[in-house]
Amino acid sequence: MHRFFVSPDQISQGRVTFSPDQSRQITQVLRMPSGGEVAVLDNAGWLYLVQLEEPSSRDVVGVVRSRRLAPGEPRTKLTIYPALLKSDKLEFVFQKCTEIGVSAFEPMITDRVAVGAMVSENKRTRWERIIAEAAEQSERGRLPQLLAVTMFPQACSQVRGLSFIAAERGDRASLRGELITRLSASSQRPFAMNLLVGPEGGFTPEELDLAVSYGIIPVSLGPRILRAETASVVGATLLLAFAGDLD
Ligand code: SAH
Repeated sequence: MHRFFVSPDQISQGRVTFSPDQSRQITQVLRMPSGGEVAVLDNAGWLYLVQLEEPSSRDVVGVVRSRRLAPGEPRTKLTIYPALLKSDKLEFVFQKCTEIGVSAFEPMITDRVAVGAMVSENKRTRWERIIAEAAEQSERGRLPQLLAVTMFPQACSQVRGLSFIAAERGDRASLRGELITRLSASSQRPFAMNLLVGPEGGFTPEELDLAVSYGIIPVSLGPRILRAETASVVGATLLLAFAGDLD
């Protein structure tokens, strides 16, 4: 069944009014008939089964038939802080990490971010669309948040919860090893986890020192050097698997 994320104000009195983009998709792309059913997510945790009324090309409306709590959300809130990468690489990170179950993204500007990766805010709309499409396709219950691009020191100062920074060189403990030690030492699963991942050129030694001064744990993702976008996907998978969110 096709799924659509809507804002709460699109649902009122048992009826859902789809946005112009969604209406276009329902009528022109999916060519759904009157009476067809779609799933609607309100991004507040509810999943609605909605029956379309006479779809017209503008403002398609549907009637709510039932609602239940949306499945598909990990219990652990994992935020990935990817350093800015070339557009297609960063989009890969947003798409794949949304499928895996990441809850938020906060892109960072770090010392070695390539000039070509610096972006204007107009990329944001495109990034949000990529995240929304991946969330609909992978049956997430909520849309991952896309936070504003931040500077590396700010990112370090604001992380809360169990936080790691992926460091490809130096003799670092593995993320897997750290998770075994830290998660088995506590009976409670962490509520929030964070992972900072560097750009193509890696983090500088000064950046790694700064992160450590904020209690962020430098970890290895194995003896091979991964592409930055691969590192985000591998890191997100390990963290959510250890937290029990991929079971
Ligand atoms: N050009 C750098 C590699 C950067 S890899 C060099 O040759 O050293 C890009 C980012 O991916 C890194 O900053 C790190 O955050 C992450 N990364 C890649 N491979 C990793 C590994 N084996 N362990 C931990 N982090 C890794």
